[in-house]
This record gives sequence, structure tokens and C-alpha cells, in this order.
Amino acid sequence: MTDSFRGEYRIVGGHPALDLVNTVSPRTRGGAAEVDHLTSPAELLAWSRRSGLIDLRDYSAVEGTWRSAPELAVKALNATLEIREATYDVLAPRAAHAVIAADGVKQSEGSAFERLMLRWSAAAARSMLIPDPARDRGIAELVVGTSPAQLIPDRLVVAAVELIRTVELRQLRACPVDDGGCGWLFLDRSRNGSRRWCSMEDCGTRAKIRKLGERRRATSV
Ligand SMILES: [Zn+2]
Repeated sequence: MTDSFRGEYRIVGGHPALDLVNTVSPRTRGGAAEVDHLTSPAELLAWSRRSGLIDLRDYSAVEGTWRSAPELAVKALNATLEIREATYDVLAPRAAHAVIAADGVKQSEGSAFERLMLRWSAAAARSMLIPDPARDRGIAELVVGTSPAQLIPDRLVVAAVELIRTVELRQLRACPVDDGGCGWLFLDRSRNGSRRWCSMEDCGTRAKIRKLGERRRATSV
């Protein structure tokens, strides 16, 4: 994978927590060389903006805080990576076509659920209920991420827990590694449940080309 590919990979999960899981490509549980797209706080910040997790105002707040306290930026990155792997460990076993680790989920650092719960409670402690009389529905707004330093992992863990609670399991898919796909997770929201690839432009096209090649080889024998 070239350097120019970094940062340009597609955002196709259909949910922020799945997009987070898909910042490793391919997702093959060590089956093929995996590239991690979140190796620095700067990459995390850029991805958060590009994926729509944060708006421009959040971006400036996080960027300013991280610049003046780089150790907090590293802490936020580490929290994000823990949330990412725990989310993957929880979702992958329920996703159609996903690669499941032979040794199951690592137990040494506590279960994936425990890790998510700890991160989620910390995020909840940093959230605020802000009354808004101008609303037509509801009385207050729940603002997650009132502390800029941890705003990104806080939003991500809340999104992950929300997805785990509410995901329509028949929509949860992995791009099929066995057929040459990348293992990314996504929600198939097509009406007939026919989405097979993370994106037709990437894995779908590659599979099509491979099939054509196989057919050509078979007929030329
Ligand atoms: Zn794919």
C-alpha cells in the first residue's frame, strides 16, 4: 500500500463505530499484512473530521488542546485504539463473513465488554445534559465530549455502545476475506440485503476482475 493511499481510504461502514473498526485494512486477523491508519494523534484528528465525527469547531478545540498537551493527545489515541479493538471483538463474531480469531477474544486485559464499559463510564462522566427551551422534542441536549482532550474517544465509545445496543444483526456484514475482500465491517441497508462488498469501487471491482481472469484462464486451457 502506497503512502498516497493513507488518509484516502473510503468511509463505508455506515456508522461511526464501524468506520473506526475499518481504520485497519485489511481486517484479516493477521491473515494478510494489515495497515493501521491511526498511528498518530494527527491521523486520528484528520480521520475524525473526514468521517464526520467532529465538526470544524470541535476540530479546532481538540487540535488546540492536543498541541499544548501532547501527552493528552497520545492518551486519546490509545483510548481510541482500545475502543476500536474492543468494538471489533464484540461485533465481528456476529457479522456475516467476518474472520473470527481462532483463539477467541483475548482475555488477559478483561473482556471487550468490560473495556468498553470502563471507557463508556468515563465518557459519561465527561458528558453534560444542557437544557434547551427552544426544542420541540425533549427538554435538554446530551453533549458528549465536553473535555476537548478526550472528545474523540468519548464520542466513539458512546457511538460504539449505541451500535452494540441497537444494531440490526441481519444488516451487519464483513467484506468477505475468503473471496478476496478486506474484512471491513459495514451495515447492509439495501432493501434486498444484497450488499456483499465494502464498496463496489474497491473490493467489488477487484473480485470482478479476478473472476474474469479465472474464466479466461479456464477457457484458454
Ligand atoms: Zn472490502
